[in-house]
Amino acid sequence: MGFSIVEGPEIETEFNNFTGLNIPLDHPSRDAFDTFYLKDYSKLLLRSHTSPVQIRAMKSRKPPLAIVVPGRVYRPDAVDASHSFMFHQIEGFMVGENITLGDLKGVLEFFAKGIFGQDIKMRFRPHFFPFTEPSAEVDISCIICKGKGCSVCGRKGWLEVLGSGMIHPNVFKNVGYDPKKYTGFAFGMGVERIAMLKYGINDIRLFFENDLRFLNQF
Ligand SMILES: [Zn+2]
Repeated sequence: MGFSIVEGPEIETEFNNFTGLNIPLDHPSRDAFDTFYLKDYSKLLLRSHTSPVQIRAMKSRKPPLAIVVPGRVYRPDAVDASHSFMFHQIEGFMVGENITLGDLKGVLEFFAKGIFGQDIKMRFRPHFFPFTEPSAEVDISCIICKGKGCSVCGRKGWLEVLGSGMIHPNVFKNVGYDPKKYTGFAFGMGVERIAMLKYGINDIRLFFENDLRFLNQF
C-alpha cells in the first residue's frame, strides 16, 4: 500500500513521547507509575508507544508521508496473561493535502480483512486520544463466534483491535506543518494482541518465555 517502514529509538525524550503528541503535562500516562523514566535523566524515558516516531519522521521529512513504525514499547504494568512491561506496537500514519477519514477506513479495512479474513466486519467506535481528533477505537466482528456473542468477546460480538483517528492539528503545529494545508490519519495496535486473536493464544507471556515448543509453531 506504499507505506515506508521507519524505526526509532526505544529511549525517547519527554517531548517526542508526550508533549509533541499533544499529551498535556497533567495527563495520567505521564505519571511515573505509568512510564519508565530513566533515573538520572528525568527528561528521558523508555517510550510507552511507537507514536514518538511520528514526531521524528514528520520533523525530518515533508508531506506526503505514508509510514509504518514497528517496535518495542514499555509500560510498568504488572505482568499477567494480558499485560507485559514490554510489548510490540505497529503504528501507521499518512499525511497529505487531502487525506480523509475515508482513507483511514479504507486502509484499516484492507488490513483487517487481510489478517482476519474477508468475511469479517469492522466498526469505528468513538473514543478520545490526545493526538487525534476525531478519534476512534476499531472493532472487528468476533472471529470466534462471528458476532453472535461468546466468552472471548465478552458476549458483545465485537473485538477491539486498535486505536485510530485524524492527526490533531496541534501535532502538526508541533512539527512545523501547516494544519490548514495538511490533514492525516494515524493508527496504532499491539502486535501481540493481534497475534493472540488470530491464533487463539490466551497468555501474552508465552511470546517472551522462550519456550521453543510454543515459538516453533510459527
Ligand atoms: Zn465472540
